Amino acid sequence: MSQSETIFSPEGLLSEHLDNFRYRPQQQHMSARVESALEQRSQLIIEAGTGVGKTFAYLVPALLSRQKVVISTGTRHLQDQLYFKDLPAVLDIVKTPVSTALLKGRANYLCVHRLEHHVPRTRLNTGRSAKKIQTIRDWSHVTRTGEIAEVNSIGEGDPVWPAVTSTVENCLGSECPSYQDCHVFKARRKAQKADVVIVNHHLFFSDLTLKQEGFGELLPQADACILDEAHQLPELASDFLATTTSSRQLRNLGEDVIAAQLEEAPESGEIRELVSAVQKATADFLLALAGCKERTQWHEAVASAEVRDRFEGLRLSLDQLSGELSALSDRGKVLARCQERCDKLVEHLQQFSGEQDDWVNWVESLEKGFRLHSTPLVIADLFQALIRDYRCSWIFTSATLTMNAQFDHFQQQLGLADAETLMLDSPFDFEASARLFLPDIAAEPGSDDYSRLVLDAVLPVLHANRGRAFLLFSSHRALRLAADFLQEENEFNLLVQGEAPRRELLERFVKTERAVLLGASSFWEGVDIRGSALSCVVIDKLPFAAPDDPVLAGRLQALRESGENPFRFYQLPQAVIALKQGVGRLIRDEDDYGVVVICDPRLTTRAYGKSFINSLPGMLRTSSPDEVINFLDQQESRHEVSCN
Ligand code: SF4
Repeated sequence: MSQSETIFSPEGLLSEHLDNFRYRPQQQHMSARVESALEQRSQLIIEAGTGVGKTFAYLVPALLSRQKVVISTGTRHLQDQLYFKDLPAVLDIVKTPVSTALLKGRANYLCVHRLEHHVPRTRLNTGRSAKKIQTIRDWSHVTRTGEIAEVNSIGEGDPVWPAVTSTVENCLGSECPSYQDCHVFKARRKAQKADVVIVNHHLFFSDLTLKQEGFGELLPQADACILDEAHQLPELASDFLATTTSSRQLRNLGEDVIAAQLEEAPESGEIRELVSAVQKATADFLLALAGCKERTQWHEAVASAEVRDRFEGLRLSLDQLSGELSALSDRGKVLARCQERCDKLVEHLQQFSGEQDDWVNWVESLEKGFRLHSTPLVIADLFQALIRDYRCSWIFTSATLTMNAQFDHFQQQLGLADAETLMLDSPFDFEASARLFLPDIAAEPGSDDYSRLVLDAVLPVLHANRGRAFLLFSSHRALRLAADFLQEENEFNLLVQGEAPRRELLERFVKTERAVLLGASSFWEGVDIRGSALSCVVIDKLPFAAPDDPVLAGRLQALRESGENPFRFYQLPQAVIALKQGVGRLIRDEDDYGVVVICDPRLTTRAYGKSFINSLPGMLRTSSPDEVINFLDQQESRHEVSCN
């Protein structure tokens, strides 16, 4: 038996120290495989169903290995949970002398250089913002970490923060006069010295893709990288490998050029006119985009002569600014950095003049701005090229990576064909504790009366269950229709996505009687509500992504051209994994029970429906609402008895 297996055994260290420890062979198996992958520096992909206890299963061997390990997870919230809760708990048990660090993205740390040199050149020194800047200034003298979350009186989304935090573009790196006092640099140095570093995927990809940041990298020193919530990686990799130019970047560049000119080249005021020309061209281009959809492929957007002309105007004005900046770049570090930024933007806009194989150019039209993106259609080779140089072990884990018990889709997306795989079912007894309710709905999704029929089918279950339900939608339109309908019913306490922050909605859901939460996108995953507060999850339709999304449309087209079936190869596995995430909200603990309702009739009428059903936990199926209501009654009685 390996060291980890012993620790996870029924008489092992965990059982000795944890009151709520339950022996799970799946967890023991996972820890042994992680231990072996760490020893052999191999690549391992693990799907661990809900309740396996995957966090402990990788933390124990990681800490015992005495290797330098980078652990990355999906969100800052999960990162905090890992660092402040799980990691100390495991360290307390295995008692290995290991140093740890939590590292966040640069936007979480004060930039002392910008506070001193950029802010005085902005309007933030006047009016209401001046008080906030003073608060930040006072705090800057006493903070040790520079983590802006320490300033409770200024909210996370406050507009002053971008002025006093850095971006990759405006950071001066090792050229910065404040480099030795830089909080980002200090946090990174601490992380580089630590044995175990906890990061999130955004930071992980920044490190992987932006080696030139000037802060040294974490990954070359790592012996192992463990990536939790790995189902998110293909999309994140795609975003990070994309190049983006936004109206905000153009605006920020203009502000930084003016501030730098005043400080480093005060007599060269003529550059201000070029900055104004870029700002005007940016505004004109934004106006020209008014007729475009929110996300449009570039070749569709430039069908409009106005978009084409305004874009050309923007490109030329930026070119001229770049020329002038190059003449001034030897006047100071900030002007030199501005020139580099401007050149990168010019270079990116040039890519929009023609089509590139394997990339899709597209434009995102926002309320007050735009973003121009160039996104790779295939990321496998690019991702492989990024990780190939690091001779460490790579462990990818999540509760949702397979379709029909196969890892093919995940492996193909990230180019991990040679990685070992391990699939571990949930230890929970889904057959006893859950039902899959497939109501008879005599309409196809998309038809006019579909939403109404879905709610008619679901209402008896919601009544019988006294709410305590999540209604998960694939579109905001369907969510709104359902919210209006349920409002008229006046039977439930509705919590609707968008009407309050996500965290607040979830807190209210747990505390409120007869609560029904209606959510789209962000509620499909990362929600962990245990106990009887949530015993019904309703999914209105199979979560196929909208095929008119420019990146998806580009990918489907490329697959078609290469002779693949885009539906089977891409859309279906993506939707299966998304559905597994949604269904995974229901049973979070051994004592949980409940019903998953999937309203989409295609689950049983289309051949591909089997791929969804086969990929879900083994729940008994029914299309009888009475059966479901009886089941919920029985479970509730059983639960009350066991609680008393
Ligand atoms: S190195 Fe970058 S982040 Fe650090 S103080 Fe200087 S500009 Fe700010």
